[in-house]
Amino acid sequence: MSELLSAPLFAQAQGVVPLDRDPALAQLASDCQACRRCSLGASRLNVVVSRGNPRARLMVIGEGPGAQEDELGQPFVGRSGQLLDLMLESVGIHSNRDAYVCNIVKCRPPENRKPTALEMAACRPWLDQQIALVDPQVILLAGATAVEGLLGIKGGITKLRGQWRQGEGGSLEGRWLMPIFHPSYLLRNPSKERGAPKWLTWHDLQDVQRRLVQLQGPS
Ligand code: SF4
Repeated sequence: MSELLSAPLFAQAQGVVPLDRDPALAQLASDCQACRRCSLGASRLNVVVSRGNPRARLMVIGEGPGAQEDELGQPFVGRSGQLLDLMLESVGIHSNRDAYVCNIVKCRPPENRKPTALEMAACRPWLDQQIALVDPQVILLAGATAVEGLLGIKGGITKLRGQWRQGEGGSLEGRWLMPIFHPSYLLRNPSKERGAPKWLTWHDLQDVQRRLVQLQGPS
Protein backbone atom coordinates (compact mmCIF):
# COMPACT_ATOMS: atom_id res chain seq x y z
CA MET A 1 0.00 0.00 0.00
CA SER A 2 1.19 3.51 -0.70
CA GLU A 3 2.83 4.89 2.43
CA LEU A 4 1.39 8.33 1.60
CA LEU A 5 -2.25 7.24 1.70
CA SER A 6 -4.38 6.05 4.58
CA ALA A 7 -6.29 2.79 3.98
CA PRO A 8 -9.62 4.46 3.04
CA LEU A 9 -7.89 6.96 0.72
CA PHE A 10 -5.94 4.16 -0.90
CA ALA A 11 -9.19 2.32 -1.40
CA GLN A 12 -10.78 5.36 -3.07
CA ALA A 13 -7.73 5.87 -5.27
CA GLN A 14 -8.04 2.27 -6.42
CA GLY A 15 -11.79 2.48 -7.02
CA VAL A 16 -12.47 0.32 -3.96
CA VAL A 17 -15.59 0.97 -1.91
CA PRO A 18 -14.56 1.04 1.78
CA LEU A 19 -16.44 -1.67 3.65
CA ASP A 20 -18.02 0.77 6.09
CA ARG A 21 -19.47 2.78 3.16
CA ASP A 22 -21.42 -0.18 1.80
CA PRO A 23 -24.69 0.11 3.75
CA ALA A 24 -25.76 -3.54 3.45
CA LEU A 25 -22.37 -4.90 4.49
CA ALA A 26 -22.05 -2.30 7.25
CA GLN A 27 -25.45 -3.48 8.57
CA LEU A 28 -24.32 -7.11 8.36
CA ALA A 29 -21.13 -6.27 10.28
CA SER A 30 -23.16 -4.53 12.93
CA ASP A 31 -25.58 -7.48 13.19
CA CYS A 32 -22.63 -9.88 13.53
CA GLN A 33 -21.24 -7.79 16.40
CA ALA A 34 -24.36 -8.62 18.39
CA CYS A 35 -24.48 -12.30 17.40
CA ARG A 36 -24.55 -14.99 20.08
CA ARG A 37 -25.88 -17.83 17.93
CA CYS A 38 -23.14 -20.19 19.06
CA SER A 39 -20.86 -20.60 22.04
CA LEU A 40 -17.90 -18.95 20.28
CA GLY A 41 -19.64 -15.65 20.92
CA ALA A 42 -18.88 -15.98 24.63
CA SER A 43 -15.09 -16.18 24.39
CA ARG A 44 -14.30 -13.81 21.50
CA LEU A 45 -12.60 -10.44 21.87
CA ASN A 46 -13.92 -9.22 18.52
CA VAL A 47 -16.24 -10.49 15.84
CA VAL A 48 -14.09 -10.81 12.71
CA VAL A 49 -16.30 -10.12 9.72
CA SER A 50 -14.17 -9.20 6.71
CA ARG A 51 -11.60 -7.01 5.04
CA GLY A 52 -11.04 -6.06 1.42
CA ASN A 53 -13.17 -4.81 -1.42
CA PRO A 54 -16.95 -5.42 -1.23
CA ARG A 55 -17.09 -5.13 -5.04
CA ALA A 56 -14.33 -7.70 -5.66
CA ARG A 57 -14.87 -10.56 -8.12
CA LEU A 58 -12.80 -12.81 -5.86
CA MET A 59 -13.75 -13.88 -2.34
CA VAL A 60 -11.27 -15.61 -0.05
CA ILE A 61 -12.77 -17.77 2.71
CA GLY A 62 -10.68 -19.23 5.53
CA GLU A 63 -11.52 -21.28 8.60
CA GLY A 64 -11.86 -18.80 11.47
CA PRO A 65 -10.01 -16.03 13.29
CA GLY A 66 -6.78 -16.76 15.14
CA ALA A 67 -5.38 -14.82 18.11
CA GLN A 68 -4.21 -11.78 16.13
CA GLU A 69 -7.39 -11.62 14.09
CA ASP A 70 -9.46 -11.84 17.27
CA GLU A 71 -7.45 -9.00 18.78
CA LEU A 72 -7.57 -6.73 15.71
CA GLY A 73 -11.03 -7.68 14.41
CA GLN A 74 -9.73 -8.38 10.89
CA PRO A 75 -9.37 -11.70 9.05
CA PHE A 76 -6.03 -13.05 7.77
CA VAL A 77 -3.79 -10.40 9.34
CA GLY A 78 -1.41 -12.71 11.24
CA ARG A 79 1.57 -14.56 9.78
CA SER A 80 -0.54 -16.84 7.62
CA GLY A 81 -2.52 -13.88 6.30
CA GLN A 82 0.69 -12.09 5.40
CA LEU A 83 1.86 -15.15 3.50
CA LEU A 84 -1.46 -15.38 1.69
CA ASP A 85 -1.17 -11.70 0.72
CA LEU A 86 2.33 -12.25 -0.64
CA MET A 87 1.28 -15.28 -2.64
CA LEU A 88 -1.75 -13.47 -4.07
CA GLU A 89 0.43 -10.50 -4.96
CA SER A 90 2.82 -12.82 -6.80
CA VAL A 91 0.00 -13.49 -9.28
CA GLY A 92 -1.11 -9.85 -9.46
CA ILE A 93 -3.94 -9.99 -6.91
CA HIS A 94 -3.94 -7.39 -4.11
CA SER A 95 -5.90 -8.85 -1.21
CA ASN A 96 -7.54 -5.58 -0.15
CA ARG A 97 -8.12 -4.15 -3.62
CA ASP A 98 -9.01 -7.26 -5.63
CA ALA A 99 -10.53 -9.57 -3.01
CA TYR A 100 -13.03 -9.69 -0.18
CA VAL A 101 -11.63 -11.77 2.66
CA CYS A 102 -13.65 -13.55 5.36
CA ASN A 103 -13.99 -16.82 7.29
CA ILE A 104 -16.40 -19.70 7.84
CA VAL A 105 -16.86 -18.67 11.50
CA LYS A 106 -16.60 -15.06 12.64
CA CYS A 107 -15.49 -15.65 16.23
CA ARG A 108 -12.25 -17.29 17.34
CA PRO A 109 -12.49 -20.94 18.43
CA PRO A 110 -10.61 -21.32 21.75
CA GLU A 111 -7.02 -22.62 21.40
CA ASN A 112 -7.41 -22.25 17.63
CA ARG A 113 -9.29 -25.54 17.45
CA LYS A 114 -11.31 -26.42 14.38
CA PRO A 115 -14.85 -25.02 14.59
CA THR A 116 -17.47 -27.69 15.22
CA ALA A 117 -20.15 -28.58 12.67
CA LEU A 118 -22.72 -26.83 14.89
CA GLU A 119 -20.65 -23.64 15.05
CA MET A 120 -20.12 -23.65 11.28
CA ALA A 121 -23.84 -24.19 10.70
CA ALA A 122 -24.76 -21.42 13.15
CA CYS A 123 -22.49 -18.94 11.36
CA ARG A 124 -23.42 -20.01 7.83
CA PRO A 125 -26.30 -17.55 7.34
CA TRP A 126 -23.85 -14.66 7.83
CA LEU A 127 -21.53 -16.12 5.21
CA ASP A 128 -24.40 -16.70 2.78
CA GLN A 129 -25.38 -13.05 3.17
CA GLN A 130 -21.80 -11.95 2.53
CA ILE A 131 -21.60 -14.07 -0.63
CA ALA A 132 -24.95 -12.73 -1.88
CA LEU A 133 -23.98 -9.11 -1.21
CA VAL A 134 -20.44 -9.24 -2.60
CA ASP A 135 -21.51 -11.51 -5.47
CA PRO A 136 -18.04 -12.90 -6.33
CA GLN A 137 -17.45 -14.88 -9.51
CA VAL A 138 -14.66 -16.91 -7.91
CA ILE A 139 -14.28 -18.18 -4.33
CA LEU A 140 -10.95 -19.33 -2.97
CA LEU A 141 -11.34 -21.82 -0.12
CA ALA A 142 -8.28 -21.78 2.15
CA GLY A 143 -7.93 -25.14 3.87
CA ALA A 144 -10.03 -28.26 4.42
CA THR A 145 -12.29 -26.65 7.04
CA ALA A 146 -13.32 -23.95 4.58
CA VAL A 147 -14.21 -26.66 2.04
CA GLU A 148 -16.16 -28.60 4.67
CA GLY A 149 -17.91 -25.49 6.02
CA LEU A 150 -18.98 -24.19 2.62
CA LEU A 151 -19.50 -27.34 0.54
CA GLY A 152 -20.00 -30.01 3.21
CA ILE A 153 -17.16 -32.02 1.66
CA LYS A 154 -14.86 -33.68 4.18
CA GLY A 155 -11.44 -34.88 3.14
CA GLY A 156 -7.77 -34.13 2.92
CA ILE A 157 -6.97 -30.84 1.29
CA THR A 158 -4.14 -32.56 -0.59
CA LYS A 159 -6.75 -34.33 -2.71
CA LEU A 160 -9.22 -31.45 -2.88
CA ARG A 161 -6.89 -28.58 -3.75
CA GLY A 162 -6.37 -27.37 -7.27
CA GLN A 163 -9.68 -28.72 -8.58
CA TRP A 164 -12.32 -26.31 -9.78
CA ARG A 165 -15.84 -26.87 -8.54
CA GLN A 166 -18.93 -25.02 -9.64
CA GLY A 167 -21.33 -23.95 -6.92
CA GLU A 168 -24.83 -25.38 -7.05
CA GLY A 169 -27.84 -23.91 -5.32
CA GLY A 170 -28.33 -21.14 -2.79
CA SER A 171 -25.66 -18.50 -2.45
CA LEU A 172 -23.14 -20.58 -4.42
CA GLU A 173 -25.10 -21.01 -7.64
CA GLY A 174 -22.93 -20.43 -10.69
CA ARG A 175 -19.80 -19.43 -8.80
CA TRP A 176 -16.40 -21.02 -9.35
CA LEU A 177 -14.72 -22.46 -6.28
CA MET A 178 -11.05 -23.36 -5.86
CA PRO A 179 -9.75 -25.12 -2.71
CA ILE A 180 -6.13 -24.39 -1.79
CA PHE A 181 -3.83 -25.30 1.09
CA HIS A 182 -4.33 -23.10 4.15
CA PRO A 183 -1.42 -20.63 4.43
CA SER A 184 -0.69 -21.81 8.00
CA TYR A 185 0.10 -25.24 6.49
CA LEU A 186 2.42 -23.54 4.02
CA LEU A 187 4.21 -21.79 6.88
CA ARG A 188 4.95 -25.23 8.32
CA ASN A 189 6.01 -26.53 4.89
CA PRO A 190 8.11 -23.71 3.45
CA SER A 191 9.84 -25.65 0.64
CA LYS A 192 9.33 -24.02 -2.77
CA GLU A 193 10.55 -27.06 -4.66
CA ARG A 194 8.56 -28.36 -7.60
CA GLY A 195 5.61 -30.39 -6.30
CA ALA A 196 5.84 -28.99 -2.73
CA PRO A 197 2.64 -27.50 -1.22
CA LYS A 198 3.86 -23.94 -1.75
CA TRP A 199 4.69 -24.60 -5.40
CA LEU A 200 1.29 -26.23 -5.90
CA THR A 201 -0.48 -23.31 -4.25
CA TRP A 202 1.31 -20.83 -6.48
CA HIS A 203 0.07 -22.79 -9.49
CA ASP A 204 -3.46 -22.90 -8.06
CA LEU A 205 -3.39 -19.11 -7.61
CA GLN A 206 -2.16 -18.62 -11.15
CA ASP A 207 -5.10 -20.72 -12.27
CA VAL A 208 -7.44 -18.50 -10.24
CA GLN A 209 -5.95 -15.38 -11.81
CA ARG A 210 -6.42 -16.87 -15.29
CA ARG A 211 -10.05 -17.72 -14.49
CA LEU A 212 -10.72 -14.16 -13.29
CA VAL A 213 -9.29 -12.74 -16.52
CA GLN A 214 -11.32 -15.24 -18.57
CA LEU A 215 -14.55 -14.38 -16.74
CA GLN A 216 -13.95 -10.67 -17.19
CA GLY A 217 -14.00 -11.09 -20.95
CA PRO A 218 -12.59 -8.62 -23.47
CA SER A 219 -12.25 -5.07 -22.13
S1 SF4 B 1 -19.17 -17.67 15.37
FE1 SF4 B 1 -20.77 -16.81 14.07
S2 SF4 B 1 -22.66 -17.75 14.84
FE2 SF4 B 1 -21.11 -18.02 16.44
S3 SF4 B 1 -21.42 -16.21 17.77
FE3 SF4 B 1 -19.80 -15.71 16.29
S4 SF4 B 1 -20.89 -14.64 14.63
FE4 SF4 B 1 -22.42 -15.74 15.85
